[in-house]
Amino acid sequence: MPASQPPNAPPTGPSPAIAARTILTGLHEVMASRHNAQAKLNHVVEIIGESLDSEVCSIYLLREGMLELFATRGLNEEAVHVTRLAIGEGLVGTIAKNVEMLNLAEAAAHPDFLYRPETGEERFHSFAGVPIVRKERAVGALTVQHVDPRRYEEVEIEALQTVAMVLSELIANADLIDEQDAFLTNPQLSGQQQLKGLPLVKGLARGFAVFHQPRISIEQVVAEDTEAERQRVYLAFDKMREQIETMTNQAEFGVDGEHAEVLKTYKMFAYDEGWARRINEAIDSGLTAEAAIERVQQRTRMRMRQIDDPLLADRMHDLEDLANRLLRIVSGQIGTAAALGLRQDTILIARNLGPAELLEYDRRRLKGVVMEEGSLTSHVVIVARAMGVPVLGRVHGVRGMMREGDEILLDADQAVANVRPTPVLTEAFEARSLRNRERQAGYAALRDVEPFSRDGERITVMMNAGLRDDIPMLGMTGADGIGLFRTEFQFLVSAALPQRDRQTRLYRDVLDTAGQKPVIFRTVDVGGDKSLPYLRGDENSGDEENPAMGWRALRLALAREGLMKAQARALLEAAGGRTLNVMFPMVSEPWEFDAAKAVFEQQIAFLKDRRKTLPEQIRYGAMLEVPALAEMLDVLAPKLSFLSIGTNDLTQFLFAADRSNPRLAERYDWLSPAILRFMRRVVQSLAPYRVDLTVCGEMGGRRLEALALIGLGIRRLSITPASVGPLKELVRKVDTREISAAMEQWLAEPVTDLRGALIAWAEERGIDWD
Ligand code: PEP
Ligand code: MG
Repeated sequence: MPASQPPNAPPTGPSPAIAARTILTGLHEVMASRHNAQAKLNHVVEIIGESLDSEVCSIYLLREGMLELFATRGLNEEAVHVTRLAIGEGLVGTIAKNVEMLNLAEAAAHPDFLYRPETGEERFHSFAGVPIVRKERAVGALTVQHVDPRRYEEVEIEALQTVAMVLSELIANADLIDEQDAFLTNPQLSGQQQLKGLPLVKGLARGFAVFHQPRISIEQVVAEDTEAERQRVYLAFDKMREQIETMTNQAEFGVDGEHAEVLKTYKMFAYDEGWARRINEAIDSGLTAEAAIERVQQRTRMRMRQIDDPLLADRMHDLEDLANRLLRIVSGQIGTAAALGLRQDTILIARNLGPAELLEYDRRRLKGVVMEEGSLTSHVVIVARAMGVPVLGRVHGVRGMMREGDEILLDADQAVANVRPTPVLTEAFEARSLRNRERQAGYAALRDVEPFSRDGERITVMMNAGLRDDIPMLGMTGADGIGLFRTEFQFLVSAALPQRDRQTRLYRDVLDTAGQKPVIFRTVDVGGDKSLPYLRGDENSGDEENPAMGWRALRLALAREGLMKAQARALLEAAGGRTLNVMFPMVSEPWEFDAAKAVFEQQIAFLKDRRKTLPEQIRYGAMLEVPALAEMLDVLAPKLSFLSIGTNDLTQFLFAADRSNPRLAERYDWLSPAILRFMRRVVQSLAPYRVDLTVCGEMGGRRLEALALIGLGIRRLSITPASVGPLKELVRKVDTREISAAMEQWLAEPVTDLRGALIAWAEERGIDWD
């Protein structure tokens, strides 16, 4: 490099690939040699210094929390293992602290410059240094210095960065650093942190962080065959693009709202020529495909950190996601944490999850979930609720605030998660857990107590279920029956469409376990946020603009006659000799109910012909989820045995607010006069008919909301199992006449804060509502 070149001159030297490659070839030999680690480092500084025409090249490594000079060419030998700098101290400390390179023509002019006489560095003017990074944290720094005041060129910095990456492997393999140190020096990843979010499923859980999408460990950094590595990246890009196209076509990810924005960004990055080119350049410099992806990612991280813009930071998360996906593809480590097997007491950390993804996890080990997104009625949250797993959602940037294995105290009751808790916090948490368990024991004691209100009204408290594992909860909670059995859950956990005999077996087992208690089977409700990967094309809500209002539930089932017929047969056979309660989801017009019932009648005729045992009684019902149906109850009600209000869907349609969109998660209140007035009208419309009216959405499982529903005259609720006890307790404290009178008044002249009014009402009467 000619010393006369002016500062900031355009790069004229070799390409970054060639500069780095020359060094890497040398390093390859050093790494393969039988020398001890110190000798290898001494050798490395010689090679780099020479290749970059630098009088000085030094390696600082983190030891006992300090950056220690481990090897140098050009500085005084006596300074080795003597010069030590704290993180943030001097130029080297600044590089490590910010995980960012420095490139200075005049080192002494930098505000953080610190002179250490033992090094003898006063002769050198120019300075460049890059962090040595491991698992995104600086574990050291690699620096070069030159007598002449000149900035190092981009080419040289890139070469240094590539070398730093190889060094990080060498260092880790030789156990030269204590990796814990690196984390302890990162404020985001060390010490106690409290993360706030939105409680999606209440409860407390103590466990250890497991990333749903685990980070990939890079096993080989230096490539043996560059052409082969190029090919691997090329194929991985292809596959990644294909995956993103598929995700775009899957209802689970939606086509609007936040997911759509994420997907748009994914697409933008996936097709970004610049990104692919930089990865290829890194491969040309001698790295493996994995190392090249990581190397480019490190560089992007550094650049992004310099830009203080929250929007860009969000996009950075997207790029991280994508780079991680590319790494998974290229390394063949494709699975999520579920596929790898969970550790005991897992707190799962994810951006978002689909219901099927959550169901893949081992229930006994999964204790809690912390997500960046999520909303109260998205199906993944409903599934978690059914599993009894607390969920904290809307925790911004959660994946950057902890590392795999960190201890977490998840307190969804208080809307917080404490990461790496102090002993004091842990003690307080344990005390709360104990109180919680005592409260649970109190609810359990109500198991055999019938929920009569103070004025003697019997409220029917049933539970929602969907999987075989849910059924024991019927006995444990003392629920009056299963008011909603979501049959599609069996479809969600299967790799292919469940065969009829498998369906029959499940339904029969459910009925056997329930004994005398009624079970209401809802026919498959797929589509919307419950997409089945094996139902593609127009049979799934693939290309829809708005899947929640699209080709889903009964609409899809009626079109796929085979699916509906098989399920009807399975239900009829399973309920042979007993009562079958069957309910159709998303009925929008009365004829859809008739058409669905006709499928059952056709199967009844078929079974009769074959002299099969039929159910003793068949009761048909519909879900009221689409507001239009409320206008047609005079037509529909005479045909029904029961009607169940699905408040999750109903409220999203009433407010035109996507139930899966996290941005809308807190916008509208179930306790709004609009919703309550609507429901009151449904209660009134059904009064002339002998139709059981139930509420089976998530709303009914929350005590304050349930209180309002009782006030509207609703006497049957089907809720998540964990709410059965708390609800029984509530019912026993309420006088239904009193709450009805209060509701009537509040709805006649709506108060601005109905929730507040209800809370005050409950508290005045000593009723626990939370
Ligand atoms: C509802 O919509 O309220 C309901 C109970 O059904 P799901 O949540 O399964 O859509
Ligand atoms: Mg629904």
